[in-house]
This record gives sequence, structure tokens and C-alpha cells, in this order.
Amino acid sequence: MIRVTVWNEFIHEKSNPNVREIYPEGMHTCIAEGLREDAGLEVRTATLDEPEHGLTETVLEATDVLTWWGHTAHERVRDEIVLRVRKRVHEGMGLLVLHSGHYSKIFKSLMGTTCSLCWREAGEKERLWVCNPAHPIAKGIDRYFEIEHTEMYGEPFGIPPPDEQIFVSWFAGGEVFRSGQTWKRGNGKIFYFRPGHETYPIYHDKTVKLILKNGVKWAAASGSKWIDSAPNIPVEQAPEPIEPWGGSVH
Ligand code: ZN
Repeated sequence: MIRVTVWNEFIHEKSNPNVREIYPEGMHTCIAEGLREDAGLEVRTATLDEPEHGLTETVLEATDVLTWWGHTAHERVRDEIVLRVRKRVHEGMGLLVLHSGHYSKIFKSLMGTTCSLCWREAGEKERLWVCNPAHPIAKGIDRYFEIEHTEMYGEPFGIPPPDEQIFVSWFAGGEVFRSGQTWKRGNGKIFYFRPGHETYPIYHDKTVKLILKNGVKWAAASGSKWIDSAPNIPVEQAPEPIEPWGGSVH
């Protein structure tokens, strides 16, 4: 079983009637239900207002893949929790960053760049082209798929060059955007996926649900947990005998 934690700031669903109508139980519940369609995924949710944002050491220790949705409250996510999540990514936990999560502290911290983009909220059509049909995240998708009403995100997207480009979007208004790509940070696999604006029912879309399932399975931790701890190897423990020479600061 792949253990998944679906994280959501869960604010606009409570404060905005349009969003509440589309996601009465919150976007995290909708995303989690979509993932649970796959019997191989064990899914829990966590939200900003829970103690430690629902991301305690115990929860993260038992998480193979974390999905992240945030928009209006990025600055309310405590720095020590961001560091905790980043450490787990370096150890090998997978991370799916969704839509406006491009500006989350955790994504910016892992990318090391601004992660900025341009945007427009006009409910226009988006066509997502598959760049690599052989990639496991694109499995089951045709040459492209469309979302009838969405928010536009456009280039330039302030990210470092990705390891793999999987989707590119075209919007009815004419802009284009790199909307699905991957990176490795430490032992952790990261997938950014663009769709998901809260005033449109995008996480109810069957193709979006399929890509999230594919993405989680791709990002799942593999191999054993490891993080660089910069250990000192004393002279007497060197694999071959050596004589110390010169000065030392230690
Ligand atoms: Zn949005």
C-alpha cells in the first residue's frame, strides 16, 4: 500500500459560497476520494488549522507521498513544519504540488526560485498536451485533454529546468504554460500539476483524478530512507591505513 497524505489549507471552501458549493467538504476530501478509487492507495487528509497543520512527525513518518494545495494562506504555514516536510522529501517522501501551491513555502524552498507566473481568472478553456506519452504519469491519457473552464496560468513560470516535462497547456486566450513536470530533490520525487482552481470543479474531472493517481504512484518513496548527515570518518577507521599529515581545524 502507498500511504498518501492530502494536505489543504481549507479556507476558501469555508469563506466563499461559490467554492463551498463545488467542494462542500473541502478540496482535500474530493482529492482524497479520487485517490481512494485506487485500492493500492491508503489516503488520509490534513489541513492548516489542525495542530502542527496536521503534519506531525508521526504523520509524515507514515507518509509515502504528500499532496499540497494552498492559495491564500501560504504565509500562515509555520517555517518549522516546512523544514520538516522538506527533510522528509530529501529522505525520499514524494510530493505533489497542485495549482496555486506553486507559491507555497515548501515548493519555493525545494525549487530555490521565485516560482512566479502570470494568471487570469476568466473561466476559459485549457488544452493540456501530453509531452511524453510513455511517462507513467501520462498513462491512460490521449494526445491531449481539455478542461472547459479554468483559470489561466501563463509563462514565464519561474521554476528551475525540470527533469521531465509531461504536460504543456494552451489556453483559449492564447497563453501557454508548463503545467506538469517533475524534479528530484535528495531522494524525493516531486511532481507539479497545474489544474485545480477552487472556483471550478476541476478535482471532480475524471482525467484530472487519473493523473493524480498516476502521479502519486510515480512519486511514491522507493528504496530505503536516507539523508546526508556528513559523518566524520576518523583516520583509524579509513578503509586503507593512512598517516595524518598537515594541520586540522578539528
Ligand atoms: Zn487558482
